[in-house]
Amino acid sequence: TRTIIDALDELAPETLVVWDKTYVWHPFTPMKQYMAGDPVIIRRGRGVKLEDIHGNWYYDGTASIWLNVHGHNVPELNAAIEAQLRRVAHATMLGQANVPAVALAKRLIDVAPKGLQRVFYSDSGATAVEIALKMAVQFWANQGRRTKRYVLGFLNNYHGDTLGAVGVAPDPLFHWPFLDLLPGHPRVPYPYPHDRLTESLEAVEDVLRTRRDELAAVIVEPVEGAGGILPAPPGFLRELRALCDRYDVLLIVDEVATGFGRTGRLFACEADGVTPDLLCLGKGLTGGYLPLAATLTTERVFEAFLGEVEERKTFFHGHSYTGNPLGCAVALASLELLLELLPALPAKVERIRAGLAPLADHPFVAEVRQAGFMVGIEIVADRATRTPFPYGAQVGFIVARHAWRRGMLVRPIGSVLIFMPPLAATETELDEMTAILRASFEDALPELESLAQQ
Ligand code: PMP
Repeated sequence: TRTIIDALDELAPETLVVWDKTYVWHPFTPMKQYMAGDPVIIRRGRGVKLEDIHGNWYYDGTASIWLNVHGHNVPELNAAIEAQLRRVAHATMLGQANVPAVALAKRLIDVAPKGLQRVFYSDSGATAVEIALKMAVQFWANQGRRTKRYVLGFLNNYHGDTLGAVGVAPDPLFHWPFLDLLPGHPRVPYPYPHDRLTESLEAVEDVLRTRRDELAAVIVEPVEGAGGILPAPPGFLRELRALCDRYDVLLIVDEVATGFGRTGRLFACEADGVTPDLLCLGKGLTGGYLPLAATLTTERVFEAFLGEVEERKTFFHGHSYTGNPLGCAVALASLELLLELLPALPAKVERIRAGLAPLADHPFVAEVRQAGFMVGIEIVADRATRTPFPYGAQVGFIVARHAWRRGMLVRPIGSVLIFMPPLAATETELDEMTAILRASFEDALPELESLAQQ
């Protein structure tokens, strides 16, 4: 039978463009500039490519904002959703359960860092973070320690755009109207470059020592993602874990971006053998198919929420679509595929490294930073002094536009071009993608040269 979706295939591209520019407000998008441009509107995807309404195919060079794992239109993932759809599309988790959500929780605990024991579902990375923050505060409150309600974060880390996440990790550029809405959360420098490790850990310890009675938790990204792909040095998470234990503060690790194979391991925490008290997961959890997130925690944290009803130790937090069965079904299927894919990842990571190595010599590239399948290429006006281009020059977009023209969708953050291919990309596909990036940087040379002379 013909569906309402089949009918959309007959809509003229021009109509879709007008509707998009008239009715849609895009996330994280300067809309004035967007409305003046030619929007990319995706109609379908297959493998690691996406097709727009004009029939152009592109490599999905940012894995559809850092989450696609197995490519698009994957038979196993489609089949899991279709099978679940025939059973039930949604049933609430508030005070009851659904079969895929229960099965996925068990499976996540099987593969998560040892010691994590409970899964609390939500719908996006930011909500997984909100939940971790609130759980940390209430963990102490439930034990009568009401003063422990601040969370130490790292400068330039990013945890999402909801108020709590912005409260512990405000970005002065993006979140400026909201900077003081949730005041009092301390922030310290992240250990990048790696010779700043000691300085960063000392700053953490200073705060923990002086404010231990006020601090509920420390929150950290194992690789600073939206900050421009800055990997923390080996040993950092382990040291942080030790400090949190010493000063009686919970450790929240935000693996929304790094989780599910992105760094080449299932979870980035594994590199340091660390188990956080709270682990935030999202993005790749469903292979990039459906909105689902999870906050994993230990039995120690969970037990602090058990009590008589009138004690009000319950975690009164939930969302309508929490633990959505379709999302959980596809997450189950995606996880099995990912476990099969894991052994192939190190060779692919090296292939990316080799493909991008020549960019280190580009006259406007300061650094090519890579953590597995996360790459940030930093563009500067002067390599010797590391002088950035002015923000308004939007140099990342200059290179990105060339990549689009050459058949790959990538999205910069400021002056850092981000490359995050789906993990299932073959080595040949990765070679083609890195070749497009090298060519796009060459294409951009004249524009960057004239900007640098201004
Ligand atoms: N934490 C990290 C580390 C992220 O990279 C992101 C998103 N880029 C988030 C949280 C927020 O996730 P979401 O966009 O799904 O809310």
